[in-house]
Amino acid sequence: MEKPDCAELDAILTTVSQIRDAEAHIILLKARLSAEAKGLSAVDDRTSRIQAAVYAYWFAPEAHASDLSFGATGRSYAGELRQYAGAVPTGIHCDRCEAEVEITSREQMKTVLSKSKRESNYAEGYRILCGECREAVFEEREVESERLAAARAARGQAVARMSYTEYLGTEDWHHQREQHLAHLLWASKMPLQCEACAAADRLGVYHRNLDALGLRDDVVLLCDTCRDALIGAGRLAGDPGPQNRIGKAHAVLLAQKYLDMDTPV
Ligand SMILES: [Zn+2]
Ligand SMILES: [Zn+2]
Repeated sequence: MEKPDCAELDAILTTVSQIRDAEAHIILLKARLSAEAKGLSAVDDRTSRIQAAVYAYWFAPEAHASDLSFGATGRSYAGELRQYAGAVPTGIHCDRCEAEVEITSREQMKTVLSKSKRESNYAEGYRILCGECREAVFEEREVESERLAAARAARGQAVARMSYTEYLGTEDWHHQREQHLAHLLWASKMPLQCEACAAADRLGVYHRNLDALGLRDDVVLLCDTCRDALIGAGRLAGDPGPQNRIGKAHAVLLAQKYLDMDTPV
């Protein structure tokens, strides 16, 4: 193809050629840097050699740790140098105890820097935690989840001692029923309707079985007609009471609350 005669095109081609030259130059510089890092082995005194390599490890991140390690210790294994690298302060503070965070490797430095740029890295809202606080936070989480599990188990035992009618009078039931309706609204993106025949009137939430009452209620939203049919067929548990029913106004309120939600309920 013949090159068109065009000053703007010439400008593009000139810049491209300059970029190629610069990239070739960087490759040369990197090779030189690698040789210089390995060249630390020329320093006579072992302590000075290691001090120089450690300084470069922290302040010349472009130099490969394996090259610096070779220069300082004679072994290309980066861990060999890291044992001398010690800990350096970062100027970044733990969000929980306010101690300055120290790091012991370049990898950790990258992690700390990228974490410090984000809003929050932990469910508790912390951005940066020192090692001790991270352990403490994880321990608190464990204690909290054990507490919740124990509370759930205790609640399960309390519910297990109740009659079905008693259970229908509890906060747990109101919560389970609302959860089911919220999920239906979120999943179908439509106002509430009978899960069997799609009728929108005279609705209620009914138990299919009572096996995990209060924990994982196995429930279905039905209109009165479908409810009666399923009870007749022996496919619903227990006698339905007024606590199963969803009033018209309640259904409208729930729809307003949950219909436009993006995340699962
Ligand atoms: Zn801390
Ligand atoms: Zn129905």
